[in-house]
Amino acid sequence: MRCLGCDLVGPAERLDYELGDDGDVAWAQRVTWQCAECGYLDAITADQVLDLDDVHTCVGCAARTPCPASAARVECERCGLIGLGPATADPEIAGQLRAIEALHDMELRVQQALRASRDPSTGPHPA
Ligand SMILES: [Zn+2]
Ligand SMILES: [Zn+2]
Repeated sequence: MRCLGCDLVGPAERLDYELGDDGDVAWAQRVTWQCAECGYLDAITADQVLDLDDVHTCVGCAARTPCPASAARVECERCGLIGLGPATADPEIAGQLRAIEALHDMELRVQQALRASRDPSTGPHPA
């Protein structure tokens, strides 16, 4: 999926959907997902799902996972390892991915520190 938050294509951190009678995603229901790269939360529709027009080869188990050519990150369908997608052959996209992941990582640590400082049982947190 292409994220509206960071404009990268990658796997979802979270995907909430219902299955229809045909075993496919019930698109009539609300489908929400969260971007694994930047944490952006959004509702998506069927026309936002991208075609799997390329393949990603896992660096861990060498399994080949179909993915969109525009993917910056691809999750291996065999072992679950998340690797670099075909789009990162473009240095501009690779740089954008690094910058967004570093920013998201920092946000998560700030949130953790805030939670820890609000929770009296963990005591004061040295900065
Ligand atoms: Zn994103
Ligand atoms: Zn793998």
